[in-house]
Amino acid sequence: MTDRVRHAACRCGQIRIACTGEPIRVSVCHCRECKARSGSAFAAQVRFPAGQVRTEGEANARMWQYTGDSGNTADFFFCGTCGSGVWYRARPYHEAYAIPLGNFAPGHGFVPDYSVYEDSMEPWVSITGDAIEHHD
Ligand SMILES: [Zn+2]
Ligand SMILES: [Zn+2]
Repeated sequence: MTDRVRHAACRCGQIRIACTGEPIRVSVCHCRECKARSGSAFAAQVRFPAGQVRTEGEANARMWQYTGDSGNTADFFFCGTCGSGVWYRARPYHEAYAIPLGNFAPGHGFVPDYSVYEDSMEPWVSITGDAIEHHD
């Protein structure tokens, strides 16, 4: 059996990502940082082990490094042309790429397993599904 490959890209298409196999986790986060990062009421991201990720057009990416309240530093990559966030990686670089779910081509089939920082969830948002773990 061949592993499934799913494709993601920034809005203008200059940065492309191919992910092989299944992700580590699919999560929705309601924290303030993720809201600002995504510009939306919450952010949804898909984490893949680095070995399952291939990127193209990375020369066009820009990086912003940020240390959050948790004390963890991560590198946030975004397209230098269209501004789409394309992935972020916690330091050191041995773990995973977190890729915004909305960058994946239609038909990806990702469903969140986790909804976190629900204490910051907008009051009109509801994340549903029997398999979802909810965390404050
Ligand atoms: Zn772009
Ligand atoms: Zn967050």
